[in-house]
Amino acid sequence: MPQDVSDPLKLKLVMLFNARNQTYSVCRHNLSAEEASQELDRLRRQGLPAFTVEQRSRHKAEEAEGCGDCRADVQHAIEAISGHSEPEPDSPKRQL
Ligand SMILES: [Zn+2]
Repeated sequence: MPQDVSDPLKLKLVMLFNARNQTYSVCRHNLSAEEASQELDRLRRQGLPAFTVEQRSRHKAEEAEGCGDCRADVQHAIEAISGHSEPEPDSPKRQL
């Protein structure tokens, strides 16, 4: 069943994920779906391994850097990514 990932109420964060050493950094959070895809485009054009991750809630921190909510949401996405040989570029989904 296809999931609707274009829900405008869903907030997303954008991160860079290094699959080689499994490290990541969050660029921005609390983005609308549209903002997130624009940011993703921008980073990808620079050749960066950018991913969007759906947030489960709005993050309270102003900055994505050091945001604990980001880390929690990203952790789920990373589990999904590393569980596949071929990462889904646009929206790493949790597959439980
Ligand atoms: Zn955050």
